[in-house]
Amino acid sequence: MTFKVAIIGRPNVGKSTLFNRLVGRKLALVDDTPGVTRDRRVHAAKLYDLHFDVIDTAGFEDAAASTLPGRMRAQTEIAIREADLIFFTIDAKSGLMPDDKTFAEIVRKSGKPVVVVANKAEARGAQGGMLEAWELGLGEPIPVSAEHGQGLPDLRDAVIAALGEARAFGEEEGDADEETAASEVLIGEDITDPDAEPSYDDTKPMRIAVVGRPNAGKSTVINALIGEERLLTGPEAGITRDSISVDWDWHGRRLKLFDTAGMRRKARIHEKLEVMSVQDGLRAIRFAEIVIIVLDATIPFEKQDLQIADLIIREGRAPVIAFNKWDMIDHPQELLAELREKTERLLPQARGMQAVPVSAETGRGLDKLMDAVIKTHRVWNSRVSTGKLNRWLEGILAHHPPPAVAGRRLKIKYVTQAKTRPPGFVVSCSRPDAMPQSYVRYLSNSLREAFDMPGVPIRIALRTSE
Ligand code: GDP
Ligand code: GDP
Repeated sequence: MTFKVAIIGRPNVGKSTLFNRLVGRKLALVDDTPGVTRDRRVHAAKLYDLHFDVIDTAGFEDAAASTLPGRMRAQTEIAIREADLIFFTIDAKSGLMPDDKTFAEIVRKSGKPVVVVANKAEARGAQGGMLEAWELGLGEPIPVSAEHGQGLPDLRDAVIAALGEARAFGEEEGDADEETAASEVLIGEDITDPDAEPSYDDTKPMRIAVVGRPNAGKSTVINALIGEERLLTGPEAGITRDSISVDWDWHGRRLKLFDTAGMRRKARIHEKLEVMSVQDGLRAIRFAEIVIIVLDATIPFEKQDLQIADLIIREGRAPVIAFNKWDMIDHPQELLAELREKTERLLPQARGMQAVPVSAETGRGLDKLMDAVIKTHRVWNSRVSTGKLNRWLEGILAHHPPPAVAGRRLKIKYVTQAKTRPPGFVVSCSRPDAMPQSYVRYLSNSLREAFDMPGVPIRIALRTSE
């Protein structure tokens, strides 16, 4: 069962453009020819590995033009009723208009899963509209340019987040083209040219977020990193405006920090106004590439800390730990050794995670923390050429080949990297379903070692080589 998407929004936000982008113009025409049994108003669409139907609302607007706004509303409601998921589309370039709120209200009332598409995001000044889109209360706006085909990977991720994996991939995932199915279960960014020289772009701003339990010192860390004056551009600025990110640079490296107004406000007036909600935490993690987990070194590794680290890793982001309040520690050497050992033991999913002692209050350790963040970001972006991978594989097969299952030895043919951010590999083998999890873990650890990828999630997908 595929799911149905309705693209909803006021006129001119780019719904038709998005529709065409998802459906592909040709496909739309083909579907429109008589004799095709498929419902004419529903068109097959594709977003990378997601296959779904888009409800065509193209006719609705004509109706609206010649009749009452009420009619348009009714038509929108029909489309919403049919849909499993709504792409609520706004024009980030022009910003929110009163009509956007009217449509948002209809969408909200439907109770259907929604992805807010902030279209025309490539346009100058779209950032403001992006921020405004949060006000709709329909969740995180996804910046997209339907016209230029930008932001589509994030749109894909948002669809999966909104529907859940099982629903997004339908029940017939296994029926999908075997050639690509395996790499599609990996998250992250597609590698377009696997043989291109690995490169790392350090001119683009790196997106980071700071998370942790209440009182761990998140606000103090943020302020120490950025400096208060950078946060507060006017007497009211940092206080009244809820913004999602702050740009700054650290020794020339451009950064974008996910920021909740609550955190800044609190730090400034030294009061416990609010704690970061779970919702905020998740939003921050999804926003970020690298997530700094601030732990209070005097009470580290509570259950919540581990849960948050696990969530970061599952979301495919890379965690970096800051052991804060280090100024209060009596035997720093011993404690650091102990905490690092604990990190490895408690969080084996991202072995080799960077963990740095800091004192946000005195500023000590922050340089090292940021070095660790930058290093981790590089690793998270890393790429290994197919040639190197298969030379590595030869060694593995010679010294620690896969086990025999039911008397037949499992064979591995080759390995390629299909994704970065985080690194994701496709292992082509004789019987993927028979491959023991322990062996997959062994491969992942060995890849991590061989290609120096500490502290980031590494994904492996198996695919059949026959
Ligand atoms: P609809 O009325 O919501 O279906 O909007 P259309 O798809 O007809 O688009 C309205 C206008 O916005 C057209 O002039 C499009 O070319 C333009 N447009 C659509 N998507 C984008 C985009 O991503 N960026 C920019 N700059 N313009 C866009
Ligand atoms: P948040 O709730 O995680 O944002 O934590 P805050 O930044 O508000 O800090 C909580 C408390 O810990 C405040 O009283 C801070 O002054 C204190 N604190 C934060 N960082 C440090 C530090 O490095 N050393 C010490 N001794 N106290 C700190």
